[in-house]
This record gives sequence, C-alpha cells and structure tokens, in this order.
Amino acid sequence: MDALKKRILQDGKCFEGGILKVDSFINHQMDPMLMHQIAQEFVNRFKGVKINKIVTIEASGIAPAIMVGFIMQLPVVFVKKKQPKTMENMLTTTVHSFTKDRDYTVCISNNFLTAEDHVLFVDDFLANGNASLGMIDLIKQAGATLSGMGFVIEKAFQNGGKILREKGVHVESLAIIEDLSNCEIKIR
Ligand code: 5GP
Repeated sequence: MDALKKRILQDGKCFEGGILKVDSFINHQMDPMLMHQIAQEFVNRFKGVKINKIVTIEASGIAPAIMVGFIMQLPVVFVKKKQPKTMENMLTTTVHSFTKDRDYTVCISNNFLTAEDHVLFVDDFLANGNASLGMIDLIKQAGATLSGMGFVIEKAFQNGGKILREKGVHVESLAIIEDLSNCEIKIR
C-alpha cells in the first residue's frame, strides 16, 4: 500500500532491537485519513472471505479494527490486557510482549467470541507472532473460525509471518519491512 509505505519512510523512526516507531501516525498520534485508507485496503484484500466479526488486541489494534468494522458494517471486539472482575465467561491466554519483553495474560469474553464467529483479526504490527498465536488460541477455545489476519506493518526479519503462513493462515500485511539495521528502513 503505497501511501502507507511513503508515510513510514517519511515519518517512521528506527529504534534499537528492530523496533519501528510510528507514533506520529499510528501508535500515539493517529491519522484517521490514513487509517481509513488502511481499513479500505484490508476490506479489498479480504473481499469474498466469510467474516462476521473483527477482533483485535488493545490498544494499537483498535483504531484500524474499528475502521474495518465500520466499512464492513461488522462488530469489533478487542482482547483485553487486564482482566476485569466483571467479565462474564472469560477466556484467557498468555502472550509474550515483544516491545515490553514480558509475558502477560490477555482475555476475551466467550459472549463476544463464539463458535458461530468467522474472525478477521486486525493488528498494527506483526513481529514474532506471539500476539497472533495468543489470538489463535482464544479462537480455538471459543470454537470460532479464523478467516484471516491483517497487519498494518509486518517485520519480515522476524518470524511471525512465516509461522502464521506455515499454519495456513490467510495473512495480509499492508507494508512489509525487510530490514531496520543501521537505522535504515528498508520496505519491500
Ligand atoms: P508479536 O506478538 O508479533 O511479536 O508483536 C506484535 C505486537 O508487538 C504488536 O501488537 C505491537 O504492539 C508490538 N510491536 C512489535 N514490533 C513492533 C515495532 O517494531 N514497533 C511497534 N511500535 N510495536 C511493535
């Protein structure tokens, strides 16, 4: 997606350890016009796929996910990083955070992720795939079906994309970063 790639090259910043900072248009300040284009691109790429629900993980996945849900006119559910005492029929799984380098338990209510659901998972980044594997576990626990996974940015020098595609998951990434070494952003 050209507009996104251009924006990453223009405003993205490299950090130690293969981290790309896009906090001026995705992760902190957000650009809703670009986010709308991103969502439309996901809608085009998953056209014809059976989907009745968009699922993401808080916090940075929520913006692209709700735009996709708005265009597709479908409900959006976000996996929570803190377990509310009041959540009914809670499903949980453990995810290792790439950016924070720690494990945490995430949860979703079985009321909103059910055996009837055909899920499109949307997230900001695909790195080692830990968040996605956690999502796959939650989908399995719920008896739901995974229809596809859409990432705004995939870092191809990490393993997540390979792991998910080898599992047969329909993965669509709108910008694929080949390399971030020497603080130079190389996009496919
Ligand atoms: P994974 O679970 O695939 O290893 O990492 C995905 C999650 O880690 C994303 O939801 C995102 O929040 C965070 N993440 C991974 N790599 C980066 C990065 O280079 N930059 C930013 N801003 N977040 C990242």
